[in-house]
Amino acid sequence: MTAFEIEPGRLFVGGQWREAADGARTEVVDPSRGAVVTTVAEAGAADVDAAVRAARDAFDGGAWSGLSGRERGRILHRVAELIRENADELARLESLDVGKPISLCHAVDVTNAANDYEHFAALAYSLDGSVRDTPMNALAYTKREPIGVVAAITPFNFPLILAGSKIGPALAAGNTVVHKPADETPLSALYMAGLLKQAGVPDGVVNVVTGSGPVAGEALLRHRGVDKVAFTGSTAIGRHVAAAAGEALKPVTMELGGNAAHIVFEDAHLEKAVGAIIKAFVFNTGQFCMGGPRLLVARPVYATLLGILSEAVPGVPVGDPRNPETVVGPMAGEKHLKKVEEYVDIARKEGGRIVCGGERLDLDGGYYYKPTVIADLSNDSRVVQEEIFGPVLTVQPFDTEDEAVELANSTPYGLASGIQTQNLARAHRIADRLQAGIVWINDWAMLDPAVPFGGVKDSGFGREYGPEALAAYTKVKSVVVSLD
Ligand code: NAP
Repeated sequence: MTAFEIEPGRLFVGGQWREAADGARTEVVDPSRGAVVTTVAEAGAADVDAAVRAARDAFDGGAWSGLSGRERGRILHRVAELIRENADELARLESLDVGKPISLCHAVDVTNAANDYEHFAALAYSLDGSVRDTPMNALAYTKREPIGVVAAITPFNFPLILAGSKIGPALAAGNTVVHKPADETPLSALYMAGLLKQAGVPDGVVNVVTGSGPVAGEALLRHRGVDKVAFTGSTAIGRHVAAAAGEALKPVTMELGGNAAHIVFEDAHLEKAVGAIIKAFVFNTGQFCMGGPRLLVARPVYATLLGILSEAVPGVPVGDPRNPETVVGPMAGEKHLKKVEEYVDIARKEGGRIVCGGERLDLDGGYYYKPTVIADLSNDSRVVQEEIFGPVLTVQPFDTEDEAVELANSTPYGLASGIQTQNLARAHRIADRLQAGIVWINDWAMLDPAVPFGGVKDSGFGREYGPEALAAYTKVKSVVVSLD
């Protein structure tokens, strides 16, 4: 039972569904069949302007920013409840749009989105400042205020979660939002616009403009009415977005690309490690910024582990995302599939040995690629150094702890990292030396809204989740009251 239907070809501006000013639309494709499923509006600069004005008016009007944190929190709790009540429809849309297995959409995307709103609802209750001790005869205190209109720009791979990880803290802190989802995967953003309204978020507080990055994204980014930019996407586009925001002196948070190393020491519990290794590179069909596509293995267990992977990986169920048994669905779009093929071709030319996979899976006209393991590449191979963003694992041996750390830190990225060892001292010692925003020990992708994540180096700056995320959507005001 759905609360409402998405209006095909409409934007959500000022609490109303409306066509793009010039009536333009773009097609949404089901990647498991390569077939068009619906059309959405393609916003131009005039639509973005209308959305930012709606957000500005809503912010200045105080219908949201003027509420207490507790009142906002109550509404955000309702958003979490509505996500759970509409879990089947949200999971169906996310699966249809991105090609994610339906079981993954339920267990990860929908569950986490609800948990995230709940987490930020709770944080809204405790948005506070502090009293400062000074030698002045004065009462000095700080308070946290919302920043204003937030431009939230999100990528194609986790549309629901990554929108919530921006809209949640932005709303908790009292801001208003214009959200531009990826042009390939806009459906859950539109559905959420309806749920937010149903939960009681006032008109104009959240606006959704579907459209392309170069047109709608660029217009949003450069709009003078935007006070903060929250961006998740590739490092290349992030660099461009950060430069434009910097020129306009707007605060930004940058959640960018990754290419994490997963280090397996000779004392690892190999049976357990194998599950984490496979999850790290096939999760979300490898379209996971925090995936672990670079496996570094201590030489004494290198051959054994490669042998285990060569048998286990071909057994991972790849196929129709509607099948509840499917673990790996198609790539989210044809261009992503072609990119993976190009990188595997490069690997072959560079002398890489394809241990398993290395080819498309021909199924229903969808964009499927078999989970692929590649050995014998040098560390300076492009396949090792660059972000492929597909179900591809490279495997390299190492001889010492120092070498493992050096290899792990050798790419420009620094989002996530992982260690497999049963030696506690070694785990902490290596975690300290890894250049990454998060380090997982003896498992992968352990994520929770209480635990901040974000990158270092070319993976960006700023943190999502936890109180750190809420702080990024507030500005601090100091008030000093003379006691003379
Ligand atoms: P992308 O191409 O950089 O796009 C991200 C968003 O930026 C999309 O909404 C895109 O719109 C928009 N955009 C493109 N050009 C723009 C411009 N000139 N001005 C403003 N916005 C613009 O990234 P993607 O391919 O969707 O996503 C994959 C990347 O995101 C990977 O690198 C992955 O590692 C990264 N990622 C990072 C995190 C993290 O938390 N660090 C999480 C998830 C993904 P269009 O879709 O219309 O092009």
